[in-house]
Amino acid sequence: MSTGPTHAMSGLLVWGGVSVAALGEALPMTPQTWIVGAVLCSGAALLPDLDHPEATVAHTFGPLTHGLSKAIHWFSHLVYRATRTRKDANRHGGHRGVTHTLVFAVLAGLGTMGVVQWGHKAALIPLLFLFCALAVRGLLHDWTPKGHALGVTALSLGLTVLCWHWIEAGPPEQARWCAAAVSMGCLAHCLGDAITEQGCPILWPVPFSYQTWYPVAPPKVMRMRTGGKVELGLLLPVLTVAGVWMSVVSLQRTGLAPWISYDLLTLHHIPPGLASGR
Ligand SMILES: [Zn+2]
Repeated sequence: MSTGPTHAMSGLLVWGGVSVAALGEALPMTPQTWIVGAVLCSGAALLPDLDHPEATVAHTFGPLTHGLSKAIHWFSHLVYRATRTRKDANRHGGHRGVTHTLVFAVLAGLGTMGVVQWGHKAALIPLLFLFCALAVRGLLHDWTPKGHALGVTALSLGLTVLCWHWIEAGPPEQARWCAAAVSMGCLAHCLGDAITEQGCPILWPVPFSYQTWYPVAPPKVMRMRTGGKVELGLLLPVLTVAGVWMSVVSLQRTGLAPWISYDLLTLHHIPPGLASGR
């Protein structure tokens, strides 16, 4: 899948699922941290496509991100040509290159952790703005022309200002959650691309089948066409419903809605006093 809405929703679903699992293991997560993570993960699920200057997400901030995308495309091409084996395709390696790998997902997460540890709340605001814009741009996809950078910027700025008033300085574990959210968003993107016809070189630079850029993909019958009926008519609605549901469940488990006496995932009754204390 390569359309923006599907990628953004896959990021939201992954974050919802991971936070439900983490909260089940009693790892601490405040509702604020959950919101920050949801924005970062959904936005990061669009991040790898910055290596494609014609992708919708490359037009998030108009000429600014378009120029950045061209630079990433060029760098990605150089890395592809420098590290490909004879078995790898003799192609222009800019798109679905280095930003579509596990290595990039880990580095993007580590970079985010460094920035948040260094700048605390002051660093969260530009991060939220950037990833919010990526997510909004991805969700709007073809329904707004690529030129609507001003609208995307204004909407993301509004959402970021809302968050600014609500988010506290952040507990010590927040930087780790931010890192996890960005890494998982990138990985969700790679998995989404892997089920399309071209596959995704997630394993780079580890060689597989004598190829350092081996396109990881399921058997051909299980792959789908980008933007085709299966993606837009089946996968996107399923991801949207599942992503929203897991978000509501995980937000409840952060203690946001102590007045709801039933667990929204298991439908089990929550004993009084436990609802806000998990
Ligand atoms: Zn992609």
